[in-house]
Amino acid sequence: MIQKELGRETKEDLRNYFENRDYMVIAVPRREPARVYVVKATSAVETARRVHGLSPGATVALGRALVGALLLTSLVKHATDQKVLLKIEGDGPIGTIVAEADGKGRVRGFVENPQVETFTKRVNGKKKFDVSKIVGNSGTLTVVKELRMGTPYTSVVPLVSGEIAQDLAYYFSQSEQIPSAVGIGVLVNEDGSVRHAGGFLVQTLGGISEKVVDLLEHRVTELPPVTELMEEGKRPEDIASMILDGLEPQLVGLKEVEYYCPCDEEVAKSSLLLLTESELNELFEEGPAEVVCKFCGRVYRFTKEDIHRR
Ligand SMILES: [Zn+2]
Repeated sequence: MIQKELGRETKEDLRNYFENRDYMVIAVPRREPARVYVVKATSAVETARRVHGLSPGATVALGRALVGALLLTSLVKHATDQKVLLKIEGDGPIGTIVAEADGKGRVRGFVENPQVETFTKRVNGKKKFDVSKIVGNSGTLTVVKELRMGTPYTSVVPLVSGEIAQDLAYYFSQSEQIPSAVGIGVLVNEDGSVRHAGGFLVQTLGGISEKVVDLLEHRVTELPPVTELMEEGKRPEDIASMILDGLEPQLVGLKEVEYYCPCDEEVAKSSLLLLTESELNELFEEGPAEVVCKFCGRVYRFTKEDIHRR
């Protein structure tokens, strides 16, 4: 946690350290109850693209969900392994999208159809990906909060747009009762690799003045797309400062973000232990069984003996 009033030296060291890394900042206005989260997740989304062999359309859709899951970590304790899972089940060709992130900034995810066709649309004469066509605009958005204190909390809201950012804003205001604005962007290069991925979340809390709410609403509406700001070289803290300009922004938190999957042999084996004896026999008929991790593609091989030696 970086406390306010950073010395100049520390600030520059941090800027250099984070130059080519993914990270998230949390900023607040000095005198008003509001919070701004801004995340850069370019490398994390690029890793997801490579791990899953995603088409450009799938890269943008899963990328937005990964950024969304990172923004959802505003609901868990900073720097802990409490986690949030975001599941989007729309009626579009990509099928189910799953993204999970924890308080330490670790994120992972997958989609049902990684090779989904890339639909585009024209917006103000520019060709853009039609994410709502890929995701679908009817279906559900589920958020599961695992706070490591017993049963996870699950809430489901209907999809309102299929563009993911708007759907998350709807989730925050409906299920969490926190008025929120969300912006998420993923831009891919000609060769399909990720050029920029990032997003912001602005939340206003109880007791905030009407004037500041109006100001923040105006700021968010006027803000250029996140990927455009990133293209200009703006970093998360710069974007947070733009949103909170004139409100004495304070940087109160910072965490590194990475694509990380904690799966291991034990987790993989436990999925086989759910099968019945006859299902297991059938599985091992042709030799060792393979369990592939949905999040990272790692392959685990087990023989019949491995399973019976529980
Ligand atoms: Zn894995």
